[in-house]
Amino acid sequence: MALVDRVLLGPGPSNPYPEATAALGAPLLGHLDPVFLGVLDETCARLRTVWGTENARTLPLSGTGSIGMEAGFANFVRPGDVVVVAVNGLFGERMCDVAGRYGAEVVRVDHEWGQPVDVRRVVEAHPRPSIVAVVHAETSTGVRSDIAALAEAVHEDALVLADCVTSLAGIPVDVDGWGVDIAYSGTQKCLGVSPGLAPFTVSPKAWERRVERPPTWYLDLNLIGAYVDGGQGGRTYHHTAPVALIASLHAALGRILEEGLDAVHARHQAAGEHLQGGLQEMGLELFAAEGHRLPELTTVRVPDGVDSAKVRRVLLTEHNIEIGAGAGAYASSVWRIGLMGHNARIERADLVLATLARLIK
Ligand code: PLP
Repeated sequence: MALVDRVLLGPGPSNPYPEATAALGAPLLGHLDPVFLGVLDETCARLRTVWGTENARTLPLSGTGSIGMEAGFANFVRPGDVVVVAVNGLFGERMCDVAGRYGAEVVRVDHEWGQPVDVRRVVEAHPRPSIVAVVHAETSTGVRSDIAALAEAVHEDALVLADCVTSLAGIPVDVDGWGVDIAYSGTQKCLGVSPGLAPFTVSPKAWERRVERPPTWYLDLNLIGAYVDGGQGGRTYHHTAPVALIASLHAALGRILEEGLDAVHARHQAAGEHLQGGLQEMGLELFAAEGHRLPELTTVRVPDGVDSAKVRRVLLTEHNIEIGAGAGAYASSVWRIGLMGHNARIERADLVLATLARLIK
């Protein structure tokens, strides 16, 4: 079956930056080739800039965003550790599941979906947690939470773990400035690359407290680190790095930094506001709480009497536009529209607004 060219305006993947796509066609190199290792080093340096960190341990993990979540808990949770998880959507729920599998005593702080995380409730959930985990940009609801405020309020002994899968390179992220210890992202959203890598960063404080021999070989950061930064012993093989994807991420990051991180954030903000304003002008109701809406992922309630699945199907098959269904209990009552990375442009917003208007009138 032949692939088709779609406009990917769902919750991810998004259409990659052209530079990222072009890099996939570059000659393949061995994962220990010095030229490739130079590209890897530059990719890690570029990731540090985008994360806002000087963390030496900043690297792309092999696997999708969930691998970042898995590595975040596997390398820092010991059985019985208290992990407070702020849950305001599907990915906070997933954190509870993953942390529990590594033996954490999970203290779950539930919020109404569509609302941001309440810092006070999360801080008061436990006096001495080992880790406090939170999703920066909840893709299931389109809500942004205030990581800086949370990190400042948690006990200084706790590690702050932030899911930045849908935020990195879309809205400002400042790992060092905010005091985040462990953070991960995914390449298929605002970074504008195919799915398959999870940019990851660890503070020196968290590194000191890592599990020496985590119960996963593949995601053991000690072993992966020996390949990525080598140290004095030189680079050693751990697993075959996905070289083409790393080259693609390298190219997308180059594009992002050339445009300028502030300009990239402003482009996402302008496109998201344009879409959200347009949807409201059409008489539709936005789902995420006002003042906490993500520009890169908009959630909108399906109007009464409209068959949400049919609209998505017609958008896809007749207009080549993908948007997402709602998540969880909102599967048929909410649509999720992404304007991420290369798609964070006014003309993409206008395209989906005009097409949707025709389908629901
Ligand atoms: N966290 C958030 C906030 C996400 O949006 C996603 C994916 O949509 C994930 C984690 C999991 O990432 P992946 O599906 O790439 O494994």
